[in-house]
Amino acid sequence: MFCRNCGKELIGVPEICLGCGAKPLVGSSFCQACGVKTSPVAEFCVKCGAGLGLKTVAGNVSGKSRLATTLLAWFLGHFGAHRFYLEKYGTAILMLLTLGGFGIWALIDFIIAVTGSMRDKEGKLITNW
Ligand SMILES: [Zn+2]
Ligand SMILES: [Zn+2]
Repeated sequence: MFCRNCGKELIGVPEICLGCGAKPLVGSSFCQACGVKTSPVAEFCVKCGAGLGLKTVAGNVSGKSRLATTLLAWFLGHFGAHRFYLEKYGTAILMLLTLGGFGIWALIDFIIAVTGSMRDKEGKLITNW
């Protein structure tokens, strides 16, 4: 198999990759069956057709509302409201203190949220409106 994180070929199915030290099946950059580069959101390898490990569509989608995240980011983004909603308290407070990175960070977060690329604190994509 290949490490999904760094693409190194591995013997057997080791717990830890010798190349990068991560769990080989946790990454999303390489196909574990053939080692080709994969998109983090791809379900199947385009080269060999192998299912890409732990990431199923259902398991990768957040239960948080994209509409709520988007609206909060737009109207209250300067105060980090959408990040409080997503329970990302560390960056939420940082955002509050910097007034949304002087508006720039808040604007970027709004764009990320509206395009469905925002992730919740578990790293799941917020794609459901
Ligand atoms: Zn690795
Ligand atoms: Zn493959």
